[in-house]
Amino acid sequence: MMRYDYLVIGGGSGGVATARRAAEYGAKVLLIESGRLGGTCVNVGCVPKKLMWYAGGMAHALADAASYGFHVDDHRFDWAALKAARDAYVGRLNGIYADMLDKAGVRLLRGHARFVDAGTVEVDGHRHHARHIVIATGGKPQLPDLPGAELGISSDGFFALDHLPRRVAVVGSGYIAVELAGVLAALGSEVTMLVRGDTLLRPFDPMLREELMTQMSDAGIRILTGTRPHALRRGADGALRADCGERTVEADTLIWAIGRHANTDGLDLIAAGLAPDDDGNIATDAWQNTAVPGIYAIGDVTGRAELTPVAIAAGRKLAARLFLDQSEARLDYDTIPTVVFSHPPIGTVGLTEGEAHQQYSDVKIYTSRFTGLYHALTAAKPRTAMKLVCAGPEQRVVGCHIIGEGADEMLQGFAVAIRMGATKADFDNTVAIHPTSAEELVTMR
Ligand code: FAD
Ligand code: NDP
Repeated sequence: MMRYDYLVIGGGSGGVATARRAAEYGAKVLLIESGRLGGTCVNVGCVPKKLMWYAGGMAHALADAASYGFHVDDHRFDWAALKAARDAYVGRLNGIYADMLDKAGVRLLRGHARFVDAGTVEVDGHRHHARHIVIATGGKPQLPDLPGAELGISSDGFFALDHLPRRVAVVGSGYIAVELAGVLAALGSEVTMLVRGDTLLRPFDPMLREELMTQMSDAGIRILTGTRPHALRRGADGALRADCGERTVEADTLIWAIGRHANTDGLDLIAAGLAPDDDGNIATDAWQNTAVPGIYAIGDVTGRAELTPVAIAAGRKLAARLFLDQSEARLDYDTIPTVVFSHPPIGTVGLTEGEAHQQYSDVKIYTSRFTGLYHALTAAKPRTAMKLVCAGPEQRVVGCHIIGEGADEMLQGFAVAIRMGATKADFDNTVAIHPTSAEELVTMR
């Protein structure tokens, strides 16, 4: 039996980050990965998604080109060429991840890990023992339990598509539904969103939700609220029909984007003395400790803030705590900035207006809605909307919400200021950068 200081199950965002740091701090590390290195983010998440988002943005730029004097009437879009380039890039990243682990001195083992006991993991009949074991097995798309569900695809299936579907139905209203619907519509699909509630992005600030729904509808996306499929079938003509009670929605491809589940299949948690919580996640305390001493969990498998930088940061802090004697090192899950790569993008950090009113008595809201200078010349006039949520006697900025071009790149710096406790006066005292959209955030009255 091989013995290690640190055994990492899962070579995704969190697993690779924690393994590399632990090795840097002198630990003998084994990382076990059953699929492709880089996990969800690299293979079927952030990276290929962002490339598709750029493709959607390029389609919008082409539509705007004539307004800037360019004549590009003759262009055509080649999905297969885009997919091949995207897949090749992801393939290169897989190799880069393997090299990074190798250089860091992490031993990589390919295969499916399962617990034998709290300190031992087995892969293909071979046992490996470690003082510390971290579960970083991520998540996988959830499919509903209804007749014909398997006729639809998930976000994983989206990345495998070999052609642009003509008509697409997207079920769901969260990050993935909004992002994939936006890309497909920009590239030319006829998109219908099936939303069980009455809004997209339910947990987000209402200004973002309303503006997004307006702008997605203006872009030609059909958003059917209060609509949920009960069954899916494929007709003799090859079309999919989603039976949603009073209405039937027809499409060539249907994408389920109704959330993700922690990936604990086949891990044999029980052998380690662990069990998933009621939501199927592995519960941890603020230090990523599970209920069993010596076993930790990070990233999506914990069901908290399912974002790549969160998995990475939690993994790095854990490595520092275990192998660098930083006994207090832990990720602070408060005030995590996030971007939805919708068209247009959303950047949001901190409290929504409603949350601020629940927590503070003296809340002041500043909003701005305008059409960015880029659209001064274009036919389409999508708006940018911004909101600052300020609270307390010093009017600290406790929330910042932006929808509009550039929101994705705008937010990171403001997130630093907000984490540092910046007040509205600090924003006001910062000289604007002109002409930008971001300057509106420091000139609101
Ligand atoms: P993962 O990256 O999922 O890695 C888990 C790894 O464990 C996988 O490689 C898996 O093969 C392996 N594994 C599982 N079980 C075993 C086992 N028993 N033995 C061995 N190996 C095992 N986040 C962002 O911050 N920004 C984005 O723009 C963004 N876009 C996204 C778009 C999509 C479509 C999706 C689905 C997700 C997106 N995310 C985004 C979320 C992000 O991808 C995840 O939060 C992140 O990948 C979580 O990292 P992780 O290490 O917890 O798990
Ligand atoms: P989300 O949690 O964002 O959204 C899931 C959505 O599915 C909710 O809007 C919910 O709607 C809806 N839903 C749940 N069950 C059903 C059902 N049975 N029928 C119809 N609708 C249903 O999950 P995603 O899968 O979109 O993404 C998973 C996570 O991955 C995200 O939470 C995010 O953390 C991460 N991610 C991050 C991205 C980024 O950083 N840009 C991009 C993509 C993913 P309701 O409002 O009614 O509850």
